Amino acid sequence: MTDNRKTPIEIDKDEFKAIGHQLIDAIADFIDRIDEKPVTTGESPKQIQNLLSRRSLPKNGSSVSALLSKTTDLLLNHSLLNGHPKFLGYITSSAAPIGALADLLAASVNPNVGAQILSPMATEIEKQTVKWLAEFIGVSPNYGGLLVSGGNVANFTAFLAARTAKAPKNVKEDGISGAPSKLVVYCSKTTHTWVEKAAILFGLGSKSIRWIQTDEANKIDNGILVKTIQNDLEKGHQPIMVIGTAGDVSTGVVDDLKTMASVCKTYDLWFHIDGAYGIPAAVIPELKNLFEGIKEADSIALDPHKWLYSPLEAGCTLVKNPKHLLDTYSTHPDYYNFSTPAEDLVQNYYEYGLQNSRGFRALKVWLTLQQVGRSGYVEMISQDIELSKFFFKQARIHPELEAITQNLSITTLRYIPVGFAKDSENKETYLNELNKALLNQLQEGGEVFLSNAIVNEKCCLRGCIVNFRTSKKDIEEIVEIIVREGRKMHIKLQTQRIE
Ligand SMILES: *Cc1c(COP(=O)(O)O)cnc(C)c1O
Repeated sequence: MTDNRKTPIEIDKDEFKAIGHQLIDAIADFIDRIDEKPVTTGESPKQIQNLLSRRSLPKNGSSVSALLSKTTDLLLNHSLLNGHPKFLGYITSSAAPIGALADLLAASVNPNVGAQILSPMATEIEKQTVKWLAEFIGVSPNYGGLLVSGGNVANFTAFLAARTAKAPKNVKEDGISGAPSKLVVYCSKTTHTWVEKAAILFGLGSKSIRWIQTDEANKIDNGILVKTIQNDLEKGHQPIMVIGTAGDVSTGVVDDLKTMASVCKTYDLWFHIDGAYGIPAAVIPELKNLFEGIKEADSIALDPHKWLYSPLEAGCTLVKNPKHLLDTYSTHPDYYNFSTPAEDLVQNYYEYGLQNSRGFRALKVWLTLQQVGRSGYVEMISQDIELSKFFFKQARIHPELEAITQNLSITTLRYIPVGFAKDSENKETYLNELNKALLNQLQEGGEVFLSNAIVNEKCCLRGCIVNFRTSKKDIEEIVEIIVREGRKMHIKLQTQRIE
């Protein structure tokens, strides 16, 4: 070995600067002109595959400069742009530009936020981020928790803490199968699919989920919830947790969390809130009532990569008494020389969740929270909601659109052809077919990206505005695009029928 080892992976300082500057220039232009691009290029998977060529793993390395300029082109010109002002699909936000810089910085220092000794500054930043997120939504800053990959894992992390807390004490040694009675959990039928995954993965089984009916406002029916719990108790089952949703994924409805919290108190159940989408709206003073009860939650899942506009991935689990996370996740193998002093000065995040080695997700969230401040978030989230209401209103007054629901920043609507006989036979079947075809057409067209929702068996178009780039003009244009494409699709379907 020579004294000066030269490896194919190191980049020398001047080259790093030159290539880095080029990359940053390309990204700055991309962000600046994102509204001039189509939301999607409409390229087929085949066309995309062809851009990569089918060669196998290269034997020899290549120049960093060539690699990065080619890859910049691949990604900037052949991606779906959820940072586009007319992207209103699913619940994926435009990403805060500071997040891109944060990820670059985080990857450069590369702290392993699994153990404090490996990430002294990053651990403190993550702690502060968690505390600020608790303050942000208005629960006690004494909630503890950690950053995770997203809403699913945030919910899983809490689900397992609830299981440890409420299942028989020997569950860690004997497993779920050793429990004398069946463990059951409760949630509304609108709850996101994570709960099924959790029940399957963590040993309860999908039949342990009690899907509670919703009321006319689409909130969990708390009367039925109580009856179901009583019924399970009579049968000798063991209820462990109730899951409330703060902003359901289809239509944005927030459950009556206050009543749910008191039900949990009565029956000594863990109260978890899935706030992956909606809970950041609790920052808005006028919406305080809607979120009453969140302070009672034993755990809360939220998703900075949704309505806090963080780049993917960033989810967060908050737990009222963080000791439950330690009870669930802490182990002390003899190959770790990580102290756990009694005072909570040292926090080793591997003891708080599923991951061992952990990246520095908190940095982008921490920086954005400071760049924007509470008041900046109040402004952006309020505007998203105002725009959603505007979208709903435009749909309501348009003769060819039917406004269906509007909650938080989600609007659902559908296209109804002018002069369409309201009492015609198979009306609903045809409207469902028409609106499904219309949605596909809109998604492929690349002018706007909406997603779908089924509301009372009606296939709807759905716009969710977690997008600080969307403006009133975008909404007006989106309405025009929907109507224009709706008319075309109706004619196309009618012609097909006649042929
Ligand atoms: C998005 C969402 C999830 C899942 O979050 P991911 O970040 O996609 O894993 C769970 N629950 C609700 C209510 C959501 O909106």
